[in-house]
Amino acid sequence: MGEFELIRRFFASAACAQTDAILQYGIGDDCALLQLPVGEQLAVSSDSMVCGVHFPEQADPFLLAQRALACAASDLAAMGASPMGFTLALTLPCADEAWLEAFARGLQRMAERCQLRLIGGDTTRGPLNINVTVLGHVPPGQALKRSGARVGDYLCVGGYLGDAAGALPYVLGHEPDALAGLLDSYWQPQPQLALGQALRGRAHAAMDISDGLLADCGHIAKASQVALVVEQALLPLSPALLACCDVSQAREHALSGGDDYVLLFTLDEQALGLLREEGWSVHVIGRVEAGCGVRLEDEQGQVLTTLAQGYEHF
Ligand code: ADP
Ligand code: MG
Repeated sequence: MGEFELIRRFFASAACAQTDAILQYGIGDDCALLQLPVGEQLAVSSDSMVCGVHFPEQADPFLLAQRALACAASDLAAMGASPMGFTLALTLPCADEAWLEAFARGLQRMAERCQLRLIGGDTTRGPLNINVTVLGHVPPGQALKRSGARVGDYLCVGGYLGDAAGALPYVLGHEPDALAGLLDSYWQPQPQLALGQALRGRAHAAMDISDGLLADCGHIAKASQVALVVEQALLPLSPALLACCDVSQAREHALSGGDDYVLLFTLDEQALGLLREEGWSVHVIGRVEAGCGVRLEDEQGQVLTTLAQGYEHF
């Protein structure tokens, strides 16, 4: 199978690669052509996944494709962008048909969930590497940035924390059924694209959690020049996570685990009320104060951990 047959069979013919009102000219030429809604800004982000660094060689290609696309799409959610399309730059050691078939199925599945069109890419031979660039659009001035958190804001997250980290020890093994939910959080994270769009004009600062809650709070604190306070007792922990470890371990996963791809944002009381009225499940986990860095507190307000400006020191 040559390079072009591979592209045609597994990517150009995929349902998510077909033209529509937004993707006016798709795979097959030197560039794709997309129609941006009049007056809107283009949001762009890239993510790479390298074999041996981000995933093991034996990783299931059906799951791997979903995770690669979901992680990239989560950046669109974090900016409040509406999804448009993505490119796929794939480096493969060989053209294994069964692997490609499963990979393409996973890609199609997540593309459909995220309403993202496959608009093009690149295919080369080499050590397995998956690079996804996502494109979205957002009305001018409405993108959600890391800067902008205000003293007095609530600090919130859009879902359970720590599931992906809790799943990590099982990612390679033969897991009991009870862990299926956790493993889904790792392999098929659900980018919070709809929530991101609902946060436009409401959240003062936002990002998606990829490095771990405390580290990512550090990014917002620094960009916004405020202090973020996380209340340990308010961390949303899933029943699936609590079923496989004790509360203190679950909290550790939630605070430092990473890979959650849940939105982290700050907003005022009025915006919080509006979101809840609309039915969004928003978990308040703390507050924004004057100062700098991140502080973790217990129920009595005792400081458990502090994270100074540089999150690397943690
Ligand atoms: P060029 O040499 O002009 O960059 P290529 O020969 O690499 O073009 O690719 C041919 C077409 O196939 C282009 O439209 C490109 O975007 C698309 N393409 C290549 N690899 C992939 C891939 N892995 N997934 C989706 N589209 C791809
Ligand atoms: Mg060309």
